[in-house]
Amino acid sequence: MKVLVINCGSSSLKYQLIDSETEKALAVGLCERIGIDGCLKHTPDGGEKHVFNIDLPNHEVAIQSVLAALTNAEYGVIRDLSEIDAVGHRVVHGGEQFASSVVITPEVIRAIADCNDLAPLHNPANLIGIDACMNLMPGVPQVAVFDTAFHQTMPKEAYLYGLPYEYYDKYKVRRYGFHGTSHSYVSKRAMEVGGLEPENSKIVVCHLGNGASVSAVLNGKSVDTSMGLTPLEGLIMGTRSGDIDPAIMEFIAKKEGLDINGVMTVLNKKSGVFGMSGVSSDFRDLDKAAGEGNVHAQDAINTFAYGVAKYVGAYAAAMNGIDGIAFTAGVGENDGKVRKLICKYFGYLGVAIDDAKNSIRGEEVIISTPDSRVKVMVIPTNEELAIARETVALI
Ligand code: ADP
Repeated sequence: MKVLVINCGSSSLKYQLIDSETEKALAVGLCERIGIDGCLKHTPDGGEKHVFNIDLPNHEVAIQSVLAALTNAEYGVIRDLSEIDAVGHRVVHGGEQFASSVVITPEVIRAIADCNDLAPLHNPANLIGIDACMNLMPGVPQVAVFDTAFHQTMPKEAYLYGLPYEYYDKYKVRRYGFHGTSHSYVSKRAMEVGGLEPENSKIVVCHLGNGASVSAVLNGKSVDTSMGLTPLEGLIMGTRSGDIDPAIMEFIAKKEGLDINGVMTVLNKKSGVFGMSGVSSDFRDLDKAAGEGNVHAQDAINTFAYGVAKYVGAYAAAMNGIDGIAFTAGVGENDGKVRKLICKYFGYLGVAIDDAKNSIRGEEVIISTPDSRVKVMVIPTNEELAIARETVALI
């Protein structure tokens, strides 16, 4: 079966065509600057990247261009569109309506639109992508896979905030969590790689990318996660602050003469390791700067690592112990130094890291020593494959 996986943003669209039998991507690509000017980057498996500067006035034209690239005689990977058996869409927010992936129907579209308030930058863009695919591929089943769905198993004490209850009743203000497709995929792989029983396992997944979140997965179910109503809560991230004293917002607003939008821009775009270091949001740049003696860059790395370690400690309490810790995403998969820095806080858990294993890159590997009481693993995430699997399972 061939599944087209679509991740539609407000001005960009990422895609992969995945063969579900081999679980390989036949082609990957990206449309950028939709509605501005337009650029399509398309790479067939084993081939060169093709870059086209073409007019992409809207998402429908962008998807049309993707379909044309996929079926092109020279750099395409299928003969015609009838070879696409289904489309899997990443949808950011499923609110409380969606605890799992669903085949898209008119009711599902209405329910996703009901969650637009909760993710005003993402859900409307996701819906535009769904609409465009339905118009261009009538009759092809479309599936929605939600970033929030995996975390819907959290108990009430993990998802309620200490706010007036009426905000939950009226507006559904609560913790939802994100990166669910990744936390689900990585926790399952961690059970397999670490030889842990799905029905008897306590796993912490550290998804450390530009956006970063930690989750507690007890017997295969998410019981807590660090992101909240929005992806701003939790860890220090590339440019997001993560947890702060909420009163800082008023304090900064007064001092800097900012309104609420100005403060939110600071917290979302100018904070995190970028704001702390004044260097970059990218850990490769931070590692380099810290190596050259930049104290702010080193402080940013140390504070980030300490923050991850605190969440892991909190989840050890939530699950009454930990059997496995899985690192994933850009930083988690590639930055052995940061992993080591985080793991140095886990002596009380009986964690011991094998430095040689910790330097292996790009594969699933257990980086703890054989006598470590907790298995520490690096598990490369693959959200597109997870979306393709969910899609195939549903249709
Ligand atoms: P997102 O999907 O949230 O945009 P990714 O999971 O792709 O993010 O992670 C991107 C981040 O991963 C980069 O900003 C950088 O900090 C980090 N990263 C990528 N490669 C490396 C590397 N080799 N060493 C250290 N950090 C890396």
